[in-house]
Amino acid sequence: MLRQLFPEDYIDSIFDLNIEQLLNNNVKGLIFDIDNTLVPFDVAHPNQKLISFFEKLKEKGFKICLVSNNTKERVIKFNEKLKVNTIHKASKPRRKSFIKAMDLMGTNKDNTLVIGDQIFTDVWGGNRLGIKTILVVPVSDRDEWITWIKRGIERLVIRLYQRQRSKKR
Ligand SMILES: [Mg+2]
Repeated sequence: MLRQLFPEDYIDSIFDLNIEQLLNNNVKGLIFDIDNTLVPFDVAHPNQKLISFFEKLKEKGFKICLVSNNTKERVIKFNEKLKVNTIHKASKPRRKSFIKAMDLMGTNKDNTLVIGDQIFTDVWGGNRLGIKTILVVPVSDRDEWITWIKRGIERLVIRLYQRQRSKKR
């Protein structure tokens, strides 16, 4: 059960994604969470650094889908300059939005990656479908209250994950 909550990797920021390594591993589709993965939940638009990073990913041939539990208005507005696929009100960790995202991108569970800041939505949701997941450190310590409640248990899971990972190395 606990393994279902462990990501494949844990990185400080999406900008630490190793594009060459992803290409070598035949990754074709990237599913990104928005809130606290790409920007703080209360920031409406991506900054120039993020826009450029997404442009670079697209140039390299990656398909991208934003999958967020947030509202349509939030997701559409955020995507104005990124212009990628989106799914709002995704009900993560339920499987259906991840499946829909892969349909939109034309990818499958073996060549798709889920990148997000939450164990119980992004990581668990991806793992349930057998999609590889990458956990990122939240970009802000501001959270919606419902998320804030989960962070305590999340920290515990992350500690267990890190302990296991350090044993492996
Ligand atoms: Mg998030």
